[in-house]
Amino acid sequence: LIEVITSSSSIFEILAETEVKYVLQCRREILKKQRESLPIASVKERLVQEVKNHDVLIIVGETGSGKTTQLPQFLFNAGFCPNGKVIGITQPRRVAAVTVAKRVAEECGVELGLKVGYSIRFDDKTSSSTRIKYMTDGLLLREALLDPYLSRYSVIIVDEAHERTVHTDVLLGLLKNVQRARLKSVIDHAVVNNKKASNGITKENEKGAECTNFLKQCQRKFPPLKLIIMSASLDARLFSEYFGGARAVHVEGRQHHVDIFYTLHAETDYVDAALITIFQIHLEEGPGDILVFLTGQEEIEGVERLVQEQLQKLPEESRKLLTAPIFSSLPSEQQMRVFMPAPAGHRKVILATNIAETSVTIPGVKYVIDPGFIKARSYDPVKGMESLIIIPTSKAQALQRSGRAGREGPGKCFRLYPESEFEKLEDSTKPEIKRCNLSNVILQLKALGVDDIIGFDFLEKPSRAAIQKSLEELFLLGALTDDCKLSDPVGHQMARLPLDPIYSKALILASQFNCLEEMLIAVSMLSVESIFYNPREKSEEAKTAKKCFASPDGDHLTLINVYRAAGELLQKRRMELGIEKNEKNIKGKNEKILRKWCRENFINSRSLRHACDIHSQIRGHVEQMGLPISSCGDDTLQFRRCLAASFFLNAALKQPEGTYRVEVLV
Ligand code: ADP
Ligand code: MG
Repeated sequence: LIEVITSSSSIFEILAETEVKYVLQCRREILKKQRESLPIASVKERLVQEVKNHDVLIIVGETGSGKTTQLPQFLFNAGFCPNGKVIGITQPRRVAAVTVAKRVAEECGVELGLKVGYSIRFDDKTSSSTRIKYMTDGLLLREALLDPYLSRYSVIIVDEAHERTVHTDVLLGLLKNVQRARLKSVIDHAVVNNKKASNGITKENEKGAECTNFLKQCQRKFPPLKLIIMSASLDARLFSEYFGGARAVHVEGRQHHVDIFYTLHAETDYVDAALITIFQIHLEEGPGDILVFLTGQEEIEGVERLVQEQLQKLPEESRKLLTAPIFSSLPSEQQMRVFMPAPAGHRKVILATNIAETSVTIPGVKYVIDPGFIKARSYDPVKGMESLIIIPTSKAQALQRSGRAGREGPGKCFRLYPESEFEKLEDSTKPEIKRCNLSNVILQLKALGVDDIIGFDFLEKPSRAAIQKSLEELFLLGALTDDCKLSDPVGHQMARLPLDPIYSKALILASQFNCLEEMLIAVSMLSVESIFYNPREKSEEAKTAKKCFASPDGDHLTLINVYRAAGELLQKRRMELGIEKNEKNIKGKNEKILRKWCRENFINSRSLRHACDIHSQIRGHVEQMGLPISSCGDDTLQFRRCLAASFFLNAALKQPEGTYRVEVLV
């Protein structure tokens, strides 16, 4: 029964109304039982009390113990949302914010977007009735631009702080300031009012009572901001010291034994090794789902395809293996598929990025395959170049990954490298702030009124060289004035756009040179993972297909050609389907046609769809900012000039042998 209830929403279409009610009732019961059995449930009262007693609290707990989904609900039920205030929970990853919000809405029995909602860049599912709001750390930073006191929030939970994303690190500094500023408002308010009030009062005891009353009134008006930092790493010291010796509490998890296996020799192709291991487990091991850690969308989609192909070669009875991908740009309706149990007799193989390491917990996993790599940002402050590179995981990450196999019972973890390699891994990953371009963050801090970036109270300071390089870049882009203040209007406009400063600059310039239509498309297409899809086994065909869109004037125009070709295709279909009244039908048909067209043209349909969403969002932003949107038509000279005038930091010199080199001007 549980499987029927939880496995598919389409079942509701064939059930009668009373049956649907019954199924939903059962589902609620199951959810309730699941929640009550989580480790965090047994310490609910204690946690609520700790939050009442401390304005800053650090909670360290094993992954899957229920921190992210349960704590906000405990606090809501304990009255932490007075006068319509909101509990905000930040996540480093979009997928986590979305999937967790959906889960919590279901647990609360409410529609997503009402009491429980989420907000991530380019997608907002909240309303004025939202009280528990999941969001990305970057989004909360942006909100602070409009509301420096973050006055809508009574509690902010910075989740997954161990990830140490650049946004989390900066957010912690900012929240420290917000807490201080709110406290100062209380005192200022109390002092002013106390003076006014004490004028007519003579008796000392009355004065004392008045004082306390005022303070209470003021605190109601400016309640302190409760700050909770949650982390999966056991070392809470750094956070605690940063917040002046803040209190840290530990939540125990439940962990079963996990057998760890290593390879005898280093693997030359870890994707291939992962594929072989998937099938070894599938054919030789007992029931239980498999979780494979890969580095990104392309790799995941590649493995998904290879698994399907291999399955076709197996006898019918061995084909009961389902793939479930999860990565950040996966459309949100598909993200939830990963949580659905496989039908009876089937096994599920989850292909995930490191999102499944600590951010989301997928039930049913018994086997973990860990090739030992992650995709990480890397920055060279001398060249000013940032890139995504594939690097080995840290020991802490390897341990987290293997732990995922032992949540519900004993499990197995297959590390696709020799044991001797494990010892060579770094203990933990270097914080992102020490290995990324800081232009974006500096731009935001400047917009928040933090002028002295080097003096900012960072959890861990980035290198002076990286700060200086980013300041220089912002200056060259025209965002800063000679005395390092945000320029008007360009710097302020750039800070308002939720984009990389180079992209923002390109849009602003394009609006002045009548080619914003084109630049909006180019920026949207550049904001997603690769549009062109290049399978190893069909690389010649893919190359030929790409030629149909290729522009001699460069990749940006090629991307625009793809976007427009897809748009024209849908436009044509819309005319043909004009008579069809049912909107849902049209949408479904369009989806199918677009997917077919993408397949034929070797285009990644998920990326293209994501780019369309981003396009409409950024268009909304530039319209709001009053930037004129027009098209340059076929005359692309101005467009290319705008590209050169904004992307000049990425310029490289073509070498006689055909390669490109970045010239460093020192
Ligand atoms: P923590 O934050 O401590 O790592 P979570 O609150 O994320 O733990 O997860 C608690 C439990 O809720 C886990 O057992 C997890 O499997 C379950 N869970 C979370 N999200 C979902 C979902 N969308 N579907 C099914 N189960 C979920
Ligand atoms: Mg969590």
